[in-house]
Amino acid sequence: MKDRYDVLVIGAGPAGSIAAKTAAEKGLDVLLIEKRQEIGDPVRCAEGVNKEYLKKHVEIDKQWICADLKGSYIFSPDGTRIEMAEEISGGEVGYVLERKVFDRALAEQAAAVGAEVRVKTRATGLIIEDDFVKGARLMHLGKEYEVRASIVIGADGVESKVGRWAGIDTALKPIDIETCAQYLIAGADVNQEYCEFYIGNEVAPGGYVWVFPKGEGKANVGIGILGSKMGKFKPRPVDYLNDFLQKRFPDARIVEMVFGGVPVSGSIEKTSANGLMLVGDAARQSDPITGGGILNAMDAGKLAGEAAYAAISAGDVSLGKLEEEYEKKWRATVGHEIDMSLIVKNCFINLTDADLDSLAHSLKDVKFERMSLLDLLQALFKANKKLLWDLRVLF
Ligand code: FAD
Repeated sequence: MKDRYDVLVIGAGPAGSIAAKTAAEKGLDVLLIEKRQEIGDPVRCAEGVNKEYLKKHVEIDKQWICADLKGSYIFSPDGTRIEMAEEISGGEVGYVLERKVFDRALAEQAAAVGAEVRVKTRATGLIIEDDFVKGARLMHLGKEYEVRASIVIGADGVESKVGRWAGIDTALKPIDIETCAQYLIAGADVNQEYCEFYIGNEVAPGGYVWVFPKGEGKANVGIGILGSKMGKFKPRPVDYLNDFLQKRFPDARIVEMVFGGVPVSGSIEKTSANGLMLVGDAARQSDPITGGGILNAMDAGKLAGEAAYAAISAGDVSLGKLEEEYEKKWRATVGHEIDMSLIVKNCFINLTDADLDSLAHSLKDVKFERMSLLDLLQALFKANKKLLWDLRVLF
């Protein structure tokens, strides 16, 4: 088995597969490894993405689309409904994907342009020499072996160890993580053209409940609660979710369960080291308000693949070079967006249910059709001077 590559990518989620594909397209010798035996399974995601944004990265294939949405409804604590066209739903709706098929298709695309893919292969540590990451130790079917690479890309998701192994602080405090529980339900009366969001401290403290249709009476129904709002004696996310399900879809059958965390920290201080870059959830690049991370992971994966090519071509894989080629670029794009979202999140988590209702009342009769999230926020905060002040840096 080959044991030397230009680039080793650890983790075949959207971030890793796009990084591998981008680097392989440029002619680099790439190995993409995935610890699970099937890429994309089990799914830990509500699978919502923005249509236009997704098209930047891949040609749309109906095989991995479960629902093509027209928009979304947001319900405030007293049940006031705000209707939004898909363009302003924070970039997280548009399509609901079948990630088991989607993630696998991305890895297949990487393989089609020359990347080698090894499944059931787990990274167990990094090879670090003279302060440079030089590869990783891998485990496959109980056997451990080493693979060397000029650059390692850590795309190992929210529970990432790669960053820590390289001495990068990726630790998340309770306020930096949404703890999620989700059911795939079947046999329910689900509007297949709209997704639904429910906000409020009674329904989901510091987070929200979502209903994302998946075709034929099915939907992902889930909840995310901010870690800092949870406690030993407080109900768990799954308890809130059960309450919600009982009220909204009393006859639904649960056919799958998902538990997981979403980083909502905003950008972290460092995502590169000598010979190493972190991408996607491993680099905490998901959106602090919505928790959406698929598209940011793909953006960052592409930047990291390009950066790997630039650094290897220049014969310089030092931290300085990777900061210039990767770190600076993702911070100016994905990073800027998530930092803006963090400001909004920090403001929203302090709102009472009465505040949320009053904001919803001010928007109830506004007919949103084509607007950006920023336009929506502007309309919202005109009705509330205190919020406008807290969020002034955004405008
Ligand atoms: P992942 O998709 O997590 O991929 C990481 C991969 O690395 C995994 O396949 C893992 O098995 C592998 N791996 C880990 N360790 C190793 C190792 N040591 N060796 C080899 N392989 C390893 N985002 C959205 O955009 N829209 C949503 O609707 C949405 N809903 C969500 C709902 C829930 C309940 C959760 C938990 C998350 C949700 N997200 C959503 C977030 C989204 O799932 C992630 O942001 C996205 O998957 C990040 O992609 P990634 O490639 O960085 O990581």
